[in-house]
Amino acid sequence: MMNYDQVFKDYIASLKNEGRYRHFAPLERISGKFPKALYHAPDGTSKEVTIWCSNDYLGMGQNKVVQAAMIKAIQKFGTGAGGTRNISGTQKLHVDLENSLADLHQKEAALIFSSGYVANEGALSSLIKLLDHPVVFSDALNHASMIHGIKSGGTEKYIYRHNDIEHLEELLKSVDPKRPKIIAFESVYSMEGDISPIEEICDLADKYNALTYIDEVHAVGFYGPRGGGVCEERGLLDRIDVLEGTFGKAYGLMGGFITGSHALIDAVRSFSSGFIFTTSLPPAVLAGALASVEYLKTSEMERGKAYRNARYLKEQLEKNDLPYLKGNSHIVPLMVGDAKCCRAVTDMLMDNYDIYVQPINYPTVPKGTERMRLTATAAHTKDDIDHMIGVLCELYQNHRLFDHMVA
Ligand SMILES: *Cc1c(COP(=O)(O)O)cnc(C)c1O
Repeated sequence: MMNYDQVFKDYIASLKNEGRYRHFAPLERISGKFPKALYHAPDGTSKEVTIWCSNDYLGMGQNKVVQAAMIKAIQKFGTGAGGTRNISGTQKLHVDLENSLADLHQKEAALIFSSGYVANEGALSSLIKLLDHPVVFSDALNHASMIHGIKSGGTEKYIYRHNDIEHLEELLKSVDPKRPKIIAFESVYSMEGDISPIEEICDLADKYNALTYIDEVHAVGFYGPRGGGVCEERGLLDRIDVLEGTFGKAYGLMGGFITGSHALIDAVRSFSSGFIFTTSLPPAVLAGALASVEYLKTSEMERGKAYRNARYLKEQLEKNDLPYLKGNSHIVPLMVGDAKCCRAVTDMLMDNYDIYVQPINYPTVPKGTERMRLTATAAHTKDDIDHMIGVLCELYQNHRLFDHMVA
């Protein structure tokens, strides 16, 4: 007879043994003081730390305009939406926000989901079923939510090497030209810090008549003159069939969305389980997201500050010979190359230097490529960055903690 609890205990023991057991860090974010937050340690003590791994890239989580919109929405409309989108849960705010997103991406329509994860899962699995099982071409480093969506769609799929256009073309060529196809990829890859060759991928999509599906989760709000993402920045919005994003990162909230043609969005709206059978986002989140999206359509200040901080951080890492991945995005992965070592470095940062960085281990990244994923947000100061660089140099020189480094 199976001892159920023993199975779970054995699993946890093996994670701990490999050094990749996940310890959450309970924080109290402090509105107005980001990237500082109060960290509650396991021994019951608490202290102020500087967060270096947040996705709140622009500090919109403490933006006053967004906060005011959310408070007002609760007072005016109450708390929950009261139902699924179909059964009493569609607020006028859903309609306003979807219109705002369609405008952001210069598309006919948009659809909001509970999260970016649910958007990818729901949209990709639906598109695959609606198109009667097309062949899917998926970048090797695509996010778990896209992989999940493609899997639950249940179709033939080819994985092309990360950002490798030639490999992608080779695979596209190998498939019957008459079969429907989807190319699924991201713009900013958040674990590598690089940006995909979107235009070249779109050229291939034209040549082989494939539908393009791009995840711009790490880019919306942050890239492009109105925060539309890398596709907006590069003038490629009209080359993309489905653009997926989140309110959870640069917009500082939560919730996901897709934008596209009216017919495509209407079909996904009518078909996707993950969209249909769940309570819709509450008024406060919708009002906050709308305020944040609209705010970042015009405000350049936050993006400018975050670009400058990212550039300065990279310059300093370069100058001090610290092994970061040289990507063209705002995200800076610092390589460690071993799970236990990665854990030890981040523990030391937290315990001795009041710096919070979460170690990134398998399965988020392949074994042997464990890393710290650093984000210098719009809210970090030059002092914060200088301090971080000083500490990393000290750890590097004095503790030999980066012995497993892979450059
Ligand atoms: C975070 C993330 C998602 C999921 O978005 P959420 O809104 O957090 O659910 C999707 N794709 C990528 C690439 C991500 O990094």
